[in-house]
Amino acid sequence: MKSMEAAPLKAAPPRGAKYARVLLKISGEALQGGKGFGIDPEVIDNIAEQLFDVMSLGVQLAVVVGGGNIFRGAKATGVSRASADYMGMLATVMNAIALRDGLERRGVPSRVQSAITMQTVAEPFIPLRAIRHLEKGRIVIFAAGTGNPFFTTDTAAALRGIEMSADVIMKATNVDGIYDRDPRQDAAAVMFPRLSYREALEKDLKVMDATAFALCMENKMPILVFNMNKTGNILRAIKGDAVGTVVD
Ligand code: UDP
Repeated sequence: MKSMEAAPLKAAPPRGAKYARVLLKISGEALQGGKGFGIDPEVIDNIAEQLFDVMSLGVQLAVVVGGGNIFRGAKATGVSRASADYMGMLATVMNAIALRDGLERRGVPSRVQSAITMQTVAEPFIPLRAIRHLEKGRIVIFAAGTGNPFFTTDTAAALRGIEMSADVIMKATNVDGIYDRDPRQDAAAVMFPRLSYREALEKDLKVMDATAFALCMENKMPILVFNMNKTGNILRAIKGDAVGTVVD
């Protein structure tokens, strides 16, 4: 009789790391750097360098990219909300390809899986296959969000993080973490090192959009909000150094 294959087990965090498997959400805006639009090659190279260091540690890494740097929604184009959302999802595919290209240039094996099938450009989203890539030390970049209009890439990050059994969702932003008020408008703003889901809701702190936040809370998925513009922060966070704000 053939023996049954054991359910895939996730390895323990590698030496020196706090997490074994991480889902990193990078917004589209982060990729435009100082250009105000599109993709800044310097930003891609910088991210690739940082992710190379993370991979050298032996951590499994999946990425969800946004699309706001290429397409900013219905108002700017006059199309319906659903059409704009599909266009936005296609923008995330462009970002994913640019990131994969940068990672491959830096010698980091990576794959793009798209929630909207376009087989010549990217693999379709196949969860078990994505896990296999992660186990083989490849970065998997999830593109096209959830594949559905009326959602955001934050929700895609929550969804994919939960599906991949990630230990944490790391949301890269351009501020250091979650503050009691907007730090760009008020210099007296105070950053929280750690919050419970309930506290974040009660204080009405916009950690992620409501759908993404609810998914994380229901599935006890920790969220780490941190500043990726500070080079080395991803690695620090993955090593468990005090970086950003943890919501758990
Ligand atoms: N989007 C969508 N469904 C998804 C994910 C994204 O319709 O599951 C759309 C979203 O409405 C937006 C675009 O894709 O127009 C880019 O995503 P987002 O704005 O979240 O990217 P970011 O702000 O992170 O750059």
